[in-house]
Amino acid sequence: MKIANKKVTAERLVRDALEKARHFSDYHIFTFLDEEGALARAREIDARIAKGEKVGRLAGVPYALKDNFLSERGETTASAHILEGFTSPVTATSVAKLEAEGAIMIGRTNLDAFAHGSSTENSYFGPTLNAFDKTRVAGGSSGGSAVAVALDIVEFATGTDTGGSIRQPASFNGVYGFKPTYGCISRYGVVAMASSTDCVGFFTKTPEDMDLLMSIASGKDPKDMTTLDDYYDDSKIEKVKKIGIITEFDNESVDVEIREALKKKCELLKSKGYEIVELSMPALKYALAAYYITVPAEVASNLSRYDGVRYGFRSKDANDLDSLYGKTRDEGFMSENKRRIMIGNFVLSSGFYDAYFLKAAKARTLIIEEYAKAFEQVDFILTPVSPNPAFKLGEKVDDPIAMYLEDMMSVSLNLAGVPGLAIPAGKTKAGLPIGLQLVGPRRSDKSLIEFSKELI
Ligand code: GLN
Repeated sequence: MKIANKKVTAERLVRDALEKARHFSDYHIFTFLDEEGALARAREIDARIAKGEKVGRLAGVPYALKDNFLSERGETTASAHILEGFTSPVTATSVAKLEAEGAIMIGRTNLDAFAHGSSTENSYFGPTLNAFDKTRVAGGSSGGSAVAVALDIVEFATGTDTGGSIRQPASFNGVYGFKPTYGCISRYGVVAMASSTDCVGFFTKTPEDMDLLMSIASGKDPKDMTTLDDYYDDSKIEKVKKIGIITEFDNESVDVEIREALKKKCELLKSKGYEIVELSMPALKYALAAYYITVPAEVASNLSRYDGVRYGFRSKDANDLDSLYGKTRDEGFMSENKRRIMIGNFVLSSGFYDAYFLKAAKARTLIIEEYAKAFEQVDFILTPVSPNPAFKLGEKVDDPIAMYLEDMMSVSLNLAGVPGLAIPAGKTKAGLPIGLQLVGPRRSDKSLIEFSKELI
C-alpha cells in the first residue's frame, strides 16, 4: 500500500532489506542473496507505479525463499551438497503466484539439508543462529526463513512443513508460522521430502499478513493433483465457542514456562467467554513413531532421483556407473539424509513392511480418527509447538532420538493433514520466545488464522 501510494519506493525497501541481510550475515540466514535481480525487479515495479499502471497486492514487498523452492533465480540447493550447482528450469507454483503479485525475493534461506531436522544444524552450509540468542539453534528445518522474519530483514518468508518445520522455528524465534491443511498450497516445484505430509506455508509478523499470503498462494493447481480448490472460508469465526487442550501434553516432559504460557492463554480465552475443554487424545502417543517410519519411507523414494547424473554435484572419484551413484550419494548427502534413506528402505523391505510401514499406516488412521473425534467436541485445539524453547547449538545434533523427540507435538498434524498456526506467546525468563499452536479441522485455515487474533 505504502508503495502504491508513493510514500516509499520498492527500490528503497529492497535496498534496506539487502542491507539488513548483510548486517546479520553472521547468523547464516541466507544461502544466496539476489542483489541484482531483486533491485532490477524493484525498479520495474517503481516504473510501473510511476506510469500509473496497476500493481499487485505484494508490489515491492521483499521476501525470503526457503532454499527448497525451485525458481529460475539462483541455485536451488535445499542446503545439500548434492544439489550444489543446480539451477532449476521451472518455478514453483507458489513462487510464481507471489511474484505475480509483485513480491520481490531478496534471497534464499538456509535449512536442514532436504528439510530433515529440527534445528537447521544439518545444513551443508552450517547452522543458522537463533534471532534471540546466538548460542542457540534457529529451529528447523526452515530456520533461515524464521530468523529472516524475526530479525525484520523481510516482511515474510516461505517455508515447508512436513512434521513441524515451519511451526517449530517460528516458535523458537517469536513469529507466526502456518502449516495449512494438506493440499491448500501447491507442492509443484518444491523439493519433495515426504509427499503425503509436505505442506507449503509462511512466516509472518501478523495474522493479517498470513491471511493475505494464504489467499494469494492457495488454490487448485493442475500440476499438483492433491491441491484443494480454494482458501476455504467457512465463516466459522462467529461460531467458535470451545477450545480444547490436550491432557497428554501437560506433563513434566514439557518445559514449565511453556505450560504456564498455555495456561495464561487459556485464561485469556476464558475471560473472552470461550470454554476450555480438556481432551484426552491417547492415539497421539503413536504419532512420533508413525511419523519416523512413514516419512523416511517416502524420503527414501523421493531422494532416489539424486544420482549424480541429473542434478547438481557429481563425485569426481567414480570410475563406473555404480560407483558414480554410490560415491555421489555418499559425498553429497548429510548423515541425517543417509539415516532416513536407510530407515526408509528398511521399513519398506519385504519381511519388514508388515511389521513397520503397514503398522505405521494403521496408526496414522487412528490419529486421523482421533482428530476427527476431537473436532466433534471442540472448534480448535491449543497446544505447545515443542516441549522446550530453543536449545543450545550442538546439544542434540549428535543424538538423533533427542532431535526426533523435539517433534512430538508437531508431527501428528501432518499425519492427519490438519492445519496448525504457531503463534508467539511471550518469552521465558531467560528471554527466549515461546510458541503455541492453534490446530483446526481440515479446511478451517481461514477461520483459524482469524481466530488467532483473539490470543493477542
Ligand atoms: N523435524 C521434522 C523432521 O526432521 C520435520 C521436518 C520438516 O517439517 N521438514 O522430520
